[in-house]
Amino acid sequence: MAAPQIVLRKGRARPLWFGHPWVYANAIARIDGQVAPGDVVSLADHDGRLIGRGFYNPRSQIPMRLCTRVDEPVDAAFFARRIKQARAARTRLGLPSEATTAYRLVNSEGDDLPGLVVDIYGDAAVAQITTLGMANRRAEIFDALEAELPIKTLYEISPPSYAELEGFAPASRVARGAPRASVPALEDGIALEVEPLSGQKTGMFIDQRETRARVGTLARGARVLDVYAYAGGFALAAARGGAASITAVDSSARAVARIEAHAAANGARGKIEAIEADAFRFLETATPRAFDLIVIDPPKFARARKDLEAARKGYERLNALALQAAAPGAILVTCSCSQNVDAETFERIVAAGAKQAGREVRVFERRGPAADHLLPPGFTEGQYLKVLFCYVV
Ligand code: SAH
Repeated sequence: MAAPQIVLRKGRARPLWFGHPWVYANAIARIDGQVAPGDVVSLADHDGRLIGRGFYNPRSQIPMRLCTRVDEPVDAAFFARRIKQARAARTRLGLPSEATTAYRLVNSEGDDLPGLVVDIYGDAAVAQITTLGMANRRAEIFDALEAELPIKTLYEISPPSYAELEGFAPASRVARGAPRASVPALEDGIALEVEPLSGQKTGMFIDQRETRARVGTLARGARVLDVYAYAGGFALAAARGGAASITAVDSSARAVARIEAHAAANGARGKIEAIEADAFRFLETATPRAFDLIVIDPPKFARARKDLEAARKGYERLNALALQAAAPGAILVTCSCSQNVDAETFERIVAAGAKQAGREVRVFERRGPAADHLLPPGFTEGQYLKVLFCYVV
């Protein structure tokens, strides 16, 4: 019997031929043969030509995700090759380096490993698994990681939200190696202590690394406000950049404790004031026009498309409040990590926020995630992070 395959409806193959990794349910004409959830299956266009192979899960809105463009087995050797390729790309991008040991080794679709993210923190690796296909192949993946890199502790952080959706057991554990609650890492020379099991995401928001460094270059002499500060990444970059004073705000007590510890470890104690507060409440009562550099980096406001209107209002209000706190000539660095809010929409929201605050701004820089967050061209679904640098007139 021929290998099972998914056949696309007529006219639906084009993006997939050009490297788009996702097959939506409504693009599928039929499935030939028997495929179980989590299996690897071939994909053919309407004329029966092989496009590639990938993971199948009928529970998902995206029943198939491609991981290869050739007819090859997806086995231990496959994962070993993929991890090696991913590492070669990071090496080419200068990661890791003497100054930076926290970086993303595997970025899911961007490394032809859909459903797998691997972040490296010094001698630790954190694997985040979000699809059944990857969950079923954990052992091969962990073997490949350990063979490629010297890893002292390998964590698995597989969030319940995805696990429930895809139908596998969530995890937050030390999968292999020495159990450690935290691991040291460097970002552009700044010393960080990362807590994969008790932090958020894999322990750090690596995607903002280059934006944090850029913020550092704009901080000299500035009164800085870092809102949604998490472990203080932007605050620390600003301190190193010569900020006059820094206020860092986060609603998580754990994050605030982390900021204080990071400030001490990097010689910025006394420079950074960490405040546990809700961002909106804080900004509503902040002294008007008191800050020269403001970063707002909120969590996703739009989880699904239906949240879009509420998210739009939230971002608009947040940006208006931030602008009220901005001194004339200040810089506002405003971020959105909602995939459902595209770059153009986000820019319009910021414009509306400025109008609401009665302030005028000019955009001078638009950024996305750091270079180690590779993506296939045209895969707009993966473009979640937008950052606007605005000069406040
Ligand atoms: N800027 C950070 C990443 C921010 S992630 C960095 O560079 O690493 C978003 C942060 O927002 C999390 O730390 C979370 O604890 C915090 N947060 C979530 N809801 C919040 C709220 N209502 N008010 C303030 N902080 C909030």
